[in-house]
Amino acid sequence: MKIDGACLCGSIQYEAVIDPAAILVCHCTDCQINGGGAFRWGTLVPRDDFTLLAGTLKFYRKTAASGRERAVAFCGDCGTSLYGTQADTAETYSLRIGTARQARSLRPSLQIWHGSAYDWTDQLDEVPALDTQP
Ligand SMILES: [Zn+2]
Ligand SMILES: [Zn+2]
Repeated sequence: MKIDGACLCGSIQYEAVIDPAAILVCHCTDCQINGGGAFRWGTLVPRDDFTLLAGTLKFYRKTAASGRERAVAFCGDCGTSLYGTQADTAETYSLRIGTARQARSLRPSLQIWHGSAYDWTDQLDEVPALDTQP
């Protein structure tokens, strides 16, 4: 499935080919902090299936729980995180689905790092909800 997306300010634009059946929710603490949310969702995309159409990405290097170096690609203007990848080979991009224009038609099929999930994320439907802000 072909998708396209952009960062919040629009200076980074991309298109990618993804497998809509292979979308993950990640509850790891790095995703919680870097995404500024309770969890992040994404999918693995081979480098050749990702095309940067506009903008210049910045990279933040971090050491993953595996001990391997990761590079997190983000927009230097608005800070939106676009993907994470191997710092050395950059063979596979962990694309942040929240940046895709088609995100509302996609659903995750697996949660990973659930051991560090916030305990309320499994009961979010119990929290009162408004369609917009009060
Ligand atoms: Zn931006
Ligand atoms: Zn994560």
